[in-house]
Amino acid sequence: MPGPTLRVVLAQPRGFCAGVERAIEIVERALRRFGPPVYVRHEIVHNKHVVEALKGKGAHFVDDVDEIPAGAVTVFSAHGVARVVEQAAGERGLEVIDATCPLVTKVHNEGRRYAAKGFEVILIGHAGHPEVEGTMGQIDGRVHLISAANEVAAIEPADPAKLAFVTQTTLSVDDTRDVIGALRARFPGIVGPDTRDICYATQNRQTAVRALAREVDVILVVGAQNSSNSNRLREIGAAAGRPSYLIDHADSLDLAWLAAARAVGITAGASAPERLVQELVARLAEHYEVDLETLAGIEENVHFRLPPELADAGVPPPR
Ligand code: SF4
Repeated sequence: MPGPTLRVVLAQPRGFCAGVERAIEIVERALRRFGPPVYVRHEIVHNKHVVEALKGKGAHFVDDVDEIPAGAVTVFSAHGVARVVEQAAGERGLEVIDATCPLVTKVHNEGRRYAAKGFEVILIGHAGHPEVEGTMGQIDGRVHLISAANEVAAIEPADPAKLAFVTQTTLSVDDTRDVIGALRARFPGIVGPDTRDICYATQNRQTAVRALAREVDVILVVGAQNSSNSNRLREIGAAAGRPSYLIDHADSLDLAWLAAARAVGITAGASAPERLVQELVARLAEHYEVDLETLAGIEENVHFRLPPELADAGVPPPR
């Protein structure tokens, strides 16, 4: 029985980005073209609902290429991989289809170009994230990993005049600007792409959650706990003074969070399916008279080309 009225505001844009759409489509098309099993190294995107759905269609997820039978069809996740992983896959004779997001590949290429010119590279990113492991492992030579401005002082480059930086694609734009500011202050000659490595989807979702924070009392971010871009959305909501919660699924919602709220905002990380947002709205509607609206926001029209070997593998049925 619905209770009091609750204004529910959806951020725009939210949810799937072009890199995630492409990665999922690659696995689905590979299953259609080659038949199951198709092996996927690492979660194809950081969302267990997506992973479970693909498992149901015959995808096998593994942490390491050592676990994959020689010669099997193998997809690398959207986060990218280090060169040693590519080499290991080559040695096992795996039939690799690369679902690395083209915007991650762009960062790999930048880092490699700097290294080839003799620069030491500083990677701004979070230790342990698969994208960071992949990027570090794609760049020859020494790579310094930092995540915050206060780590800049500890960097000891061989030659401070030959330094470059690149960044993870899913960082906070504001935090990254602070880190880059600290780098430029200590190493005035450092070169890098400014915050342009942070991908369009991350930037747009961060802009949208800031707009959402101006409208609502509480923010719910739908996304996985290990999803970098989803965590940044929660942090930005909190930094804007709104209690913000990252939830994997509608069942994780604690109604006590909304006790004093008249308006709640919902957004979703780039790897979270829209279905999860709609299930959250449906859960709210079980307890409130929901007054639903979507904020005006940036219209995204980004699509990435599929790998050529799958381009004509047939369009998968709707998810
Ligand atoms: S979040 Fe950005 S970099 Fe990551 S898959 Fe999506 S578009 Fe690519």
